[in-house]
Amino acid sequence: MRNIVLMGPPGAGKGTLATKLREELHLVHISTGDMFREAIKNATDLGKLAKKFLDSGNLVPDDVTVGLVKERLSRDDCKNGFLLDGFPRTLVQAEALDRLTKEINRPIETVINLDCDTNELVRRISGRRVCKNCGAPYHIETMKPKVDGVCDICGGPLFQRPDDNEDALKIRLQHYVTSTKPLLAYYEDKGLLKNFNSLGGIERLFDEVTNFLSSK
Ligand code: ADP
Ligand code: ZN
Repeated sequence: MRNIVLMGPPGAGKGTLATKLREELHLVHISTGDMFREAIKNATDLGKLAKKFLDSGNLVPDDVTVGLVKERLSRDDCKNGFLLDGFPRTLVQAEALDRLTKEINRPIETVINLDCDTNELVRRISGRRVCKNCGAPYHIETMKPKVDGVCDICGGPLFQRPDDNEDALKIRLQHYVTSTKPLLAYYEDKGLLKNFNSLGGIERLFDEVTNFLSSK
């Protein structure tokens, strides 16, 4: 049983690492950001509520986010392990997660934190492009597609996330520092925290994380 929380500032590589880990370890990948983006695309009630928060770089209210995760984590497919990506982001969410995982008897076993310096985060996010069809990530300088603006994998069009602009990014980084970063101490106190540096590139990070998980 592997129940993992993935933490780190926006741009640290949580989504990219999670995608590789879920394939390798057959875990259910729960990304609250992806869930909100999907709801926005489908124009559901949740999507209509969440859109203004995502576009501006602000956090969706805790009660909404906690409700969403509660429903998802309680489903049967999570019983063999899950990877939470982008949740919890506030102390209220972390405490709710503690209660919830107790209730359903699926305790968090490891919290993986990705460190990355702020200049690099800004560089990564401002150059990021994402495939509209399959979500594959690119970077205009360091991970260019073969043909400008076209996904190598599926041929879909690449676009910039609405919250990957300078103003929204500033707000996202502020929320990270004031609301999310303090959770590292919370998990450190519980003896669950393990830090990794994401500057060395995704392949190296993936090897380090999978080595650590298999040694546990
Ligand atoms: P990143 O880590 O690159 O900032 P995510 O895809 O994790 O991006 O999140 C995108 C946006 O979705 C956040 O800026 C926020 O508006 C919303 N969101 C995602 N997870 C949460 C959460 N746990 N609590 C509140 N809002 C969230
Ligand atoms: Zn694609």
